[in-house]
Amino acid sequence: MSPKRLEDMYDAVIIGAGAAGLSAALGLLRSPEITDLQEQGVEPKILVVSKLQPLRSHTGSAEGGIAASLGNIESDDWHWHYYDTIKGGDWLVDQDAAKLLAEYAPETVINLERQGVAFSRTEDGHIAQRRFGGHTRDFGGEPVKRAAYAADRIGHQILHTLWQQCVAQGVEFAEEWYVTDLVLSEEGTKAAGIVAFDTHSGKIQAIHARNVLIATGGAGRLFHTTSNSWDLTGDGMALALTAGLQLEDIEFVQFHPTGLAHTGILLSEAARAEGGILRNADGEAFMERYAPEHKDLAARDVVSRSIMAEIDAGRGVADPKDPNGPKDCVWLDMTGIDPERMKQVLPQVVETIEQYANLDPTKDLVPIKPTAHYTMGGLPITTDGEVYRWDGEHRSVVDGLFAAGECSCVSVHGANRLGGNSLLDACLFGTRAGRALADHIAHNPVDSPMSDDSLDDDLIAAVDQAAHARTDELNTLLQGSDDAASSAAEDDVNAYALMSQLGSVMERALAVRCSAETIATAREQLEETITPAAESLVAHDKTAAFNQEVTAIWETRHLIELAEAVLTASDARQESRGSMRRLDFPERDDEHFLAHSMVDRSNAVTFKPVVITDYPPKKREY
Ligand SMILES: Cc1cc2nc3c(=O)[nH]c(=O)nc-3n(C[C@H](O)[C@H](O)[C@H](O)COP(=O)(O)OP(=O)(O)OC[C@H]3O[C@@H](n4cnc5c(N)ncnc54)[C@H](O)[C@@H]3O)c2cc1C
Repeated sequence: MSPKRLEDMYDAVIIGAGAAGLSAALGLLRSPEITDLQEQGVEPKILVVSKLQPLRSHTGSAEGGIAASLGNIESDDWHWHYYDTIKGGDWLVDQDAAKLLAEYAPETVINLERQGVAFSRTEDGHIAQRRFGGHTRDFGGEPVKRAAYAADRIGHQILHTLWQQCVAQGVEFAEEWYVTDLVLSEEGTKAAGIVAFDTHSGKIQAIHARNVLIATGGAGRLFHTTSNSWDLTGDGMALALTAGLQLEDIEFVQFHPTGLAHTGILLSEAARAEGGILRNADGEAFMERYAPEHKDLAARDVVSRSIMAEIDAGRGVADPKDPNGPKDCVWLDMTGIDPERMKQVLPQVVETIEQYANLDPTKDLVPIKPTAHYTMGGLPITTDGEVYRWDGEHRSVVDGLFAAGECSCVSVHGANRLGGNSLLDACLFGTRAGRALADHIAHNPVDSPMSDDSLDDDLIAAVDQAAHARTDELNTLLQGSDDAASSAAEDDVNAYALMSQLGSVMERALAVRCSAETIATAREQLEETITPAAESLVAHDKTAAFNQEVTAIWETRHLIELAEAVLTASDARQESRGSMRRLDFPERDDEHFLAHSMVDRSNAVTFKPVVITDYPPKKREY
């Protein structure tokens, strides 16, 4: 649905309708400041803009669970969750944020349950929990059951529940509107609004807002083999770079160990939590050698690297679909799991294997390989979701600009995220950002007779100007010069082919491991072929409405913008930590790199200290 008419000015525009965007909308509307305003007859003007119908957001694909020390099945303590998160992130985690994450996780999960999430249950009716990699008791001891689950469809439950709550609250959505620009004040210190392409009408829209919250999700489509849906093109991060902002720790990309061969589709960690075992070509359960204590349920970066080490040592297997192809997979052996239980708690995993690999996991070994899964870095935010700049010494908050979810970096995941912590991050810090937004709105609501509009004029002009420029660009894309269109058609250059090419370049450069050489090769390919080709793209059809190629062109350009930042930050981090494995710098180097990278569009990288309050860095072993 599209809004019937756009307001001249919004109190807040939220970009993105996944767990983070919807949690922010609910956090905002349910905060006491907003209730007070409503009691005075002042209605906040809020709009949620999403390039997808909200229920298609990637949150809906989350399978395994959401982490919280509920202690429903065995005793657990949030301090252990706090510690595991820091250790999982290889000590690059800001401990003030991780503490909030672990401490308020139980409240977050229980709130989800009260709003309607149908969790799986224990015999006695409590929320069921399963093991997930890196979650332990007693500060690194035995694995603990901490991931609250709903079979293997937790994200579907959470997304539908939050969306229904938003509908009940009367939240207005602009669905299938693609945000092309984030507009700030001239000095870059204040949010002014956004520009969006309404795909239904084919029109560019200027949307003025006193506050903007970015919740656009991850960027798995930077890589060819990915578990991420097609929409995860890092738009919000690229919008921030283009607007002159920085990204934090963007070199850290998590490769999930078990992507189904050929497709990269995720087979949830729940498959190993329920008893699945990784085996090499000799049938050996090789994780016993790499992580003697936690074996197949060590942290994801550890398992992915172990898989790659087996493949490199010649103990990989070929995908049975392509028996003469490269031996770049290992087996996931689920045959030890009771078939009845498998059907009951892993229906999604079973269905994926049956439909996409034509195999029966109760009898067959399943070929898997690491798949790009999660971006640990993103827009730097405070624990209240405010986006800030780092000048080398201090943070300065951009007034009225917020972010939450996978596109942001409050730094609870550091160099590697633990399973189940991402939905938690999106829901918990999304809600906190919504509340902080409410506080902003309460000081100067648009709808109030007391509203101070004096500051709005320049900001309105800035958004209008950006919308005009974008309309001109759209016209060029659609009409193109006939020469450009015909030469692009002749060379068969199109956004989809280019995105795929970029994915292969990035995969060769960075997947699971990298070096100065692989990074330099990718930068060269970007500079020489991919970027110029993206600049010359034009649409093959001249109709604006429902022209998906137009959004694909913008998405490709966003991915390229982001790819450059990822390569720059990867180059600058000359050590191995968490998901970042530098072949040329194999050790973690706390002396120089126990710090967050901050990269901007000019490719300048600075480093920011890590907040360490309770747990000093230690060697990381599983
Ligand atoms: C297959 C899979 C399984 C996972 N399983 C788990 C799990 O078990 N547990 C866990 O904790 N985490 C899991 N994760 C990670 C987790 O699901 C995500 O990190 C989280 O859901 C991200 O939520 P989000 O709200 O930040 O983004 P998303 O849910 O991706 O939503 C992004 C939103 O932004 C909108 N958007 C993007 N760009 C634009 C634009 N330019 N204009 C307008 N709108 C835009 C989209 O329309 C969408 O609504 C999984 C991820 C995947 C891919």
